[in-house]
Amino acid sequence: MKTFSNNYDVIVCGGGPSGIAAAVSAARQGVKVALIERFGILGGMMTSGYVNPILGAVEPGSIYDEIMSLLEATNLETRNGREMSVDTEKAKYKLLDFAAESGADIFLQTPVVDVIKEGNRLKGVVIGTQRGLANLQAKVIIDATGDGFVAACAGAEYFVGREGDGKCQPTSLEFTIDNVDESRAFTCWGGSDPVQMPDGRKYSDFCKELNLRGELPKNVSIVRIHRTNSSGERSINATQSNGYDTLTPEGVFGAELELRRQIETVIDFLRKYIPGYEKCKLKATGSALGVRETRRILGDYLISDLDVETGARKKDVVVHNAWFLIDIHNPAGVGQAEGHSQPAKPYDIPYSSLLPKGLDNIITCGRCISGTHRAHASYRVMAICMATGQAAGIAAALSAQMNEPPRELEVKALQKALLKTGAVLFD
Ligand SMILES: Cc1cc2nc3c(=O)[nH]c(=O)nc-3n(C[C@H](O)[C@H](O)[C@H](O)COP(=O)(O)OP(=O)(O)OC[C@H]3O[C@@H](n4cnc5c(N)ncnc54)[C@H](O)[C@@H]3O)c2cc1C
Repeated sequence: MKTFSNNYDVIVCGGGPSGIAAAVSAARQGVKVALIERFGILGGMMTSGYVNPILGAVEPGSIYDEIMSLLEATNLETRNGREMSVDTEKAKYKLLDFAAESGADIFLQTPVVDVIKEGNRLKGVVIGTQRGLANLQAKVIIDATGDGFVAACAGAEYFVGREGDGKCQPTSLEFTIDNVDESRAFTCWGGSDPVQMPDGRKYSDFCKELNLRGELPKNVSIVRIHRTNSSGERSINATQSNGYDTLTPEGVFGAELELRRQIETVIDFLRKYIPGYEKCKLKATGSALGVRETRRILGDYLISDLDVETGARKKDVVVHNAWFLIDIHNPAGVGQAEGHSQPAKPYDIPYSSLLPKGLDNIITCGRCISGTHRAHASYRVMAICMATGQAAGIAAALSAQMNEPPRELEVKALQKALLKTGAVLFD
């Protein structure tokens, strides 16, 4: 049995899409890495949340491509463009094996509960184990917790929710159904999907009508139905709870209970009204609440609405041509916040948006990086999270090797290392 240490070059907190990419990328640079995950499986929302498909895009050549190939993701062309579908159950093993192969020590069922701080620097983190609390030290710490938990513990400044009223995108619990008749069953990627019912009515209008009639839960005015890579199976993104503060135990509990109550109603709706779904059955549900938005850690740079809308180019680019819609599930009610998802242009993510302001040796990645509420609504998808994880991992490794704080790292050296892995950073 491998013995884990309590002293690392790089500690990655959180084993979701961004954390896995960060840990593997750091370890491949030849440094000693620990990946710490509170659940028993890696994958974050992809596995624990049963979120499928993998959405978004970045310039080809990044670790996202490698992970999609590892997971044998199926490219399902939809009316909304590309959806990469993965087998969630297989992903649980493949992602763990992928991370282990890199040489990183992987702490499972081990929550990070606090940080050990010395001025603006973190000496390490405190983890919870079956033998009690333990300290782990590292030169650089990556916050890939989604919630920005580690940076927040270290005293970083952060935003929660939209500017103005602080309301966050709603939570959802995704689930998978099977026994679907492929010859008749349509799919729907969202409220703007023009797919029609057999009588010519727009399916999204039909969902709204059923919501008003009380045959869909209060907050559910669209039942998104995604094809998966298994015939007769669908991934359902429909349940929705608004207004819970998921940074509190009460909020997590309230949202979880409300969402689990909704699942049966959504399945009844599909069985009763949607062709091809008459005999569908619940196959699996996420084991973790689907939290779209909590803390966004303020960095040296804040990715702005304009950056995402205009496809900004950045000198300290570490992810090139990140793209996804500005997809804001309504924080205050049903449907989309702005009527429908707004367009974005492929934009650059700069290194400075991964560096929490005022802290010396933490790097963020994934959905908690520095940006506005609307920018986050685009970069929060998994393809982009993996790419920011890769950048954070390589930056942390170089910083540890050079004994320099991440902020002092020469950006050109980081970009050179990223280019060497096959990533493309410039037009
Ligand atoms: C309902 C829902 C639907 C979505 N739909 C899509 C979609 O269709 N396609 C798409 O691409 N994206 C989708 N997203 C967005 C996407 O899934 C997330 O934004 C993305 O997974 C974020 O990646 P991450 O690595 O930052 O965080 P996460 O995936 O949340 O991973 C964070 C990891 O850190 C761990 N962690 C947290 N705190 C601690 C701690 N204290 N100690 C140790 N470990 C910790 C967690 O257990 C988790 O494994 C959806 C999100 C939700 C909630």
